[in-house]
Amino acid sequence: MTEKFTGAVVEKFNTPLVIEEVALPTPGPNQAVVKLIASGICHTDLHAAHGDWPVKPEPPFVPGHEGVGEVVELGPGEHRVAVGDIVGNAWLWSACGNCDQCLKGWETLCPNAEYGGYTVDGSFGTYMLVDTRFAPKIPDGADPLEVAPILCAGVTVYKGLKVSETKPGQFMVISGVGGLGHLAVQYAKAMGMRVIAVDIADDKLELAKKHGAEFTVNALNVDPAEAVQEYTDGGAHGILVTAVHPQAFGQAINMARRAGTIVFNGLPPGEFPAPIFDIVLKGLTIRGSLVGDRQDQVEALDFYARGLVKPTVTECTLEDVNEVFEKMEKGQIDGRMAIRY
Ligand code: NAD
Ligand code: ZN
Ligand code: ZN
Repeated sequence: MTEKFTGAVVEKFNTPLVIEEVALPTPGPNQAVVKLIASGICHTDLHAAHGDWPVKPEPPFVPGHEGVGEVVELGPGEHRVAVGDIVGNAWLWSACGNCDQCLKGWETLCPNAEYGGYTVDGSFGTYMLVDTRFAPKIPDGADPLEVAPILCAGVTVYKGLKVSETKPGQFMVISGVGGLGHLAVQYAKAMGMRVIAVDIADDKLELAKKHGAEFTVNALNVDPAEAVQEYTDGGAHGILVTAVHPQAFGQAINMARRAGTIVFNGLPPGEFPAPIFDIVLKGLTIRGSLVGDRQDQVEALDFYARGLVKPTVTECTLEDVNEVFEKMEKGQIDGRMAIRY
């Protein structure tokens, strides 16, 4: 078995990733080595490389948590996957199974969780390690490049839409139509919701229309809360924020209908002002939502396998990763970029 792999490594925060040889760990119990075929590039990888969040990864590390590849070696013991299977990695790389959150079915909130491409090396490389209890099984016949974004962007917005408790026929605003948001538009549509998309770029809004949004708002030109209130005659039932600017979070609150739910998926560093009076008087629910559990992942992949969602993906190589990050910062990516190995 190979002992090294070629990875894109964050050596230091806020410096370009370095393509170099990295030691490949020997798989332990419940672990497997996967030879990568493709990996999506998530905005979280950019936050990781910048050390944007209060809890930081420790350089050097290999980002990437939308990896798809073939199992080539299993650690000792029994596994739920076999050599030759096509599996992925995910942000929820593993959870402990024993804490109060895991025991009550909220493994995404496990304080002992490992995160792919953050606390454990990820999919920006030719090989990666996965936990075979958590590695998503990729549906038969899936295009590896196309399915990759489901593993983070897809499952995250699918779960976010679920916890919004918005029903078929009700209005759902998707704020931010990037990698997450362009899939959120499709999941919301497939779940029977009436979709409104908000972004600050017209090309993103065009993509949202293509994927089923019935109304779009460019938040650079008009007050998006006013536009949503007017179109929905009283506000949207659900709002899912995937945007990478804190301003979108404050604006979301004013888009809500009475008793509406606002779900935050986006994770830009920073804060926003929240109107206490409106939140109380309108009985609003504001909740954060972090990726999805293993069953959410199965369901999110099933939407893809049944043709209900189709990621917009542009192919790149591992060597392109710094260029992709630059484009991502400027908001110049349509849907997702994915590396083909
Ligand atoms: P992306 O760069 O592909 O998309 C971001 C989008 O936000 C772009 O379309 C951009 O035009 C839009 N935007 C920027 N400012 C805006 C504004 N003021 N109003 C409306 N839209 C605005 O990023 P992505 O990969 O989709 O990730 C989005 C965010 O979600 C990141 O912060 C990422 O870390 C986070 N994320 C969270 C989870 C989770 O589990 N909660 C999972 C994955 C990603
Ligand atoms: Zn992600
Ligand atoms: Zn746990």
